[in-house]
Amino acid sequence: MLKLDFHPAGRHFLQIPGPSPVPDRILRAISYPTIDHRGPEFGALGLKVLAGIRKIFKTEQPVVIYPASGTGAWEAALSNTLSAGDTVLMFETGHFATLWKKMAEKLGLRPEFLGLPGIEGWRRGVQADMIEARLRQDSGHAIKAVCVVHNETSTGVTSDIAAVRNAIDAAGHPALLMVDTISGLASADYRHDEWGVDVTVSGSQKGLMLPPGISFNAVSPKAIEASRSARLPRSFWDWEEIIAMNQTGYWPYTPSTNLLYGLSEALDMILEEGLDNVFARHHRLAEACRRAVRAWDLEIQCADPSVYSPVLTGVMMPDGIDADAVRRIIYDRFNMSLGAALGKMKGRMFRIGHLGDCNDLTLMATLSGCEMGLKLSGVPVAASGVAAAMDYLAAHANPLPLRAAA
Ligand SMILES: *Cc1c(COP(=O)(O)O)cnc(C)c1O
Repeated sequence: MLKLDFHPAGRHFLQIPGPSPVPDRILRAISYPTIDHRGPEFGALGLKVLAGIRKIFKTEQPVVIYPASGTGAWEAALSNTLSAGDTVLMFETGHFATLWKKMAEKLGLRPEFLGLPGIEGWRRGVQADMIEARLRQDSGHAIKAVCVVHNETSTGVTSDIAAVRNAIDAAGHPALLMVDTISGLASADYRHDEWGVDVTVSGSQKGLMLPPGISFNAVSPKAIEASRSARLPRSFWDWEEIIAMNQTGYWPYTPSTNLLYGLSEALDMILEEGLDNVFARHHRLAEACRRAVRAWDLEIQCADPSVYSPVLTGVMMPDGIDADAVRRIIYDRFNMSLGAALGKMKGRMFRIGHLGDCNDLTLMATLSGCEMGLKLSGVPVAASGVAAAMDYLAAHANPLPLRAAA
């Protein structure tokens, strides 16, 4: 029999950049009895979460909620707006951008993958000037959409989406703008309406602090217009019927009732803390984490400080050190999970998640585990990253938002 209650003493440190730890408050909400998804109480829950999630995306437009992982919402974004053979311009920021591009190929689209050479693209964000130059060449408007990843979870780089919008406008190009903020939403500032994004894709298990299992498409009027003539086959993902039934808080098929309880609770938690406070907390933790990496004299994967991710930090290993072996030691000895390097970076770095339900002391424990693991793995650590992070956090310690308000 599979034993699910295996665990050493103390709590497991799930410091991967998603799924992030689920707060007890949300777990309790999810444990309420499942109700009739056509009954009267359900409509009120549906309307609440559909209104609340718009505040997180900063949009007045519909947000579609799917009972699916983020990958499903990627497919929904493409299949609702495009037709077979359409050219889409995508930018190689890392592993997730690469997976989205592969999906576009499988769906019968023609993705053009812009990027910097080698692993350079995996260390810097989207280069808006390259997108602008490519769009300017496309005088016949063959390119139907520009697709970029906001927070590239495989590397720890958060791209400037407003700059991509400006690049499209500067080129005078009508392509749709589609953005994956699966790991950015509710951790890094995101503005669907202000940035003129046509479809924003997100998921539940990162900044929203929920278990995996629901995902989102925030849509613009222009995206809805495109969906009327888009010909890729779609049924489960079709926005039209979902958006129509959402008017009264219901779905055409059975939604993830219990995860929607969790979403309701997560929205309360995030909006009680205040979105700006949530973002400031992530920035502060990310800065403390980077100070630790620098004290260890290791390299941060993101090579452009203007696009450091507030969600996670990629830590590169010196030559000859297998990052997966370091992660294994940390897991076996200290009961902490760190993110593995993906794709092109395999074995060369690990990722520290500092997103969602994370505070100063969570981060300090995380960095302690990393520092001990590095020493045990024979990585020469120049100075204590733990001490550097503590100095930063102590020097910037303010009353917590909910205490300050009390
Ligand atoms: C996690 C993640 C995905 C994949 O989402 P799933 O829920 O695993 O399907 C896609 N893009 C980014 C940026 C992610 O962080």
